[in-house]
Amino acid sequence: MKRQRLYIVIFLALIIIVAGCTMVFQKNGMPSEEPAGADTGNTPGDDVAEDGNDNNGDNPADSEKDIDLADIKPNEAGKIMILMYHVIGEKEGEWSRTWENFKKDLGVLYEKGYRLISLNDYLDNNIKVEAGYTPVVITFDDATQGQFNILEEDGKLTVDPTSAVGILEEFYDKHPDFGLEATFYIYYPVPFRKKELIEYKLNYIVEKGMDIGNHTYGHANLGTLDAEGIQQQLGRMVLETQKIIPGYNISSLALPYGANAKEQFRSYVYSGSYQGVSYENKGVLLVGSNPALSPIDRKFDPHKIPRIRATEDPNINTDMYDWMDYFDKNPQERYVSDGDETVISVPKSMEDRIDAERLGDKRLRVYELDQ
Ligand SMILES: [Zn+2]
Repeated sequence: MKRQRLYIVIFLALIIIVAGCTMVFQKNGMPSEEPAGADTGNTPGDDVAEDGNDNNGDNPADSEKDIDLADIKPNEAGKIMILMYHVIGEKEGEWSRTWENFKKDLGVLYEKGYRLISLNDYLDNNIKVEAGYTPVVITFDDATQGQFNILEEDGKLTVDPTSAVGILEEFYDKHPDFGLEATFYIYYPVPFRKKELIEYKLNYIVEKGMDIGNHTYGHANLGTLDAEGIQQQLGRMVLETQKIIPGYNISSLALPYGANAKEQFRSYVYSGSYQGVSYENKGVLLVGSNPALSPIDRKFDPHKIPRIRATEDPNINTDMYDWMDYFDKNPQERYVSDGDETVISVPKSMEDRIDAERLGDKRLRVYELDQ
């Protein structure tokens, strides 16, 4: 009897070892620096860890990337944070963030399983993030000097490591899987506040794969302008940018003061022309304080994209830290990628949120979770 028991114990131990190995192999696709975000306890996939294996037998052997739906719990109809920074510098305030805190923000986002995407990829529903991770967008308004400062020593130019661009690049060097994406909503005549370096900086941003967005030519309140004034403000900004970077396509606008044009002139916010240069703003960003809808959501409106204030202010309960807490507590509302940009995966409960017309050539995969 005793020997029989021993055999059973050995047999069970072998099963556990084999199962463990299989799990290790599954995780091999994840970046090596980081234990998979879906496993950290901070991402939505984790709250089904106990019963996570219930669905294993149900996975169809699809041609696309095979993922463990019950473990990763992808939800590509979930919400996405579009963060809004203004001043990066020495002081913390309603519209400013210290550079140390900006650095901290990147670290917290990374640890909580967020990964950078560009605003254009968000607008185009072309979200490429590894399975189990959540896309996040970073935007900067006003082209303040602390966003992108250049140091000059003996005629040599280097990016100030305490300016946002320097911090983003340093973080990306250490964590390449975080990505290097941001949109700078600039206005003229002197974006980033140093006249002699405008060309250098704008070209630098674009060469690094980051984006420039429209914040009007002179930080105008569009609500006070007519059709001509709006086109002058938006078109001239594009014209000036294209003088520096010929052919550069500006595809989104952050409304100064969050103020949109009067209803009868609204169409000129989306498209128009000025001195032979035409512009089109596929996306229009508000100052508002909520996470944005998935671009596949029926209610997604690219002309009214809310953003979240990137601060940590105890007097505001809608800053980025409040929303990260919210998503920790309500993981079912958070966008979680399936890691395959050709497939849109959503739990059954979110199926009716999908706008089929926006699917394009992507395939919809709806799955059920045992609760
Ligand atoms: Zn502004």
